Amino acid sequence: MTKLLMNLRVRIYNKLKSLSLFKQTIGNFANGNYNLTFTNKGKCNAIAGEAACTDPIDLSNGNITIKILEPASQGLDYSATLLHEGIHASIYRYVDEYKKGLNPNKKENIFYWYNFYKAKNARDRGTAYAQHQHMQDAYVRPLAVSLRKLDNYRYPLEDYYGFAWEGLRVYKYEDYIDPKDNKTKTMTPEKYKDVIDKKNVISASSIFAENCK
Ligand SMILES: [Zn+2]
Repeated sequence: MTKLLMNLRVRIYNKLKSLSLFKQTIGNFANGNYNLTFTNKGKCNAIAGEAACTDPIDLSNGNITIKILEPASQGLDYSATLLHEGIHASIYRYVDEYKKGLNPNKKENIFYWYNFYKAKNARDRGTAYAQHQHMQDAYVRPLAVSLRKLDNYRYPLEDYYGFAWEGLRVYKYEDYIDPKDNKTKTMTPEKYKDVIDKKNVISASSIFAENCK
């Protein structure tokens, strides 16, 4: 079940519903015993400068809350934030289901990082690191594909990678699996600047949801 409690930009949210990434994450909460709630209240990690976060504090009762405290002013950036938090929510849920034996499908990359960081699937630092590391490996491309579709395919796919990388910037891990060739690469400050610059060009010129204030 999905509950929208915040004054979320519902028109943007509705436009995301056609994306396969949305269906696999936020949309999937329509099924099963987990509740996903959106709010613009509460706190995230102010030290890390987080404007949005996903709170699993009541996960044992099947409740996950996505907090979006400072909505981005631009529609594509806002969509990227929602999708990023939706991925967190779906990872929390997946690991919880797996541990309870409700989901037998073992996703190796997630558990590799969960073990590596001794993640508790709660609000611990290890979980934040493990989930973001998994996103670097598995979600840069799906996020780029989603944003490109919303933006009506104006630029090559790789130009949209920055929308995924921007949500990962507070984390220090440099290695990631390149979606182009499935090989491990290193994210350098130069590469990072390049992907963010490309993303900013797209954000500044996109007409997606420009009237969705
Ligand atoms: Zn995150």
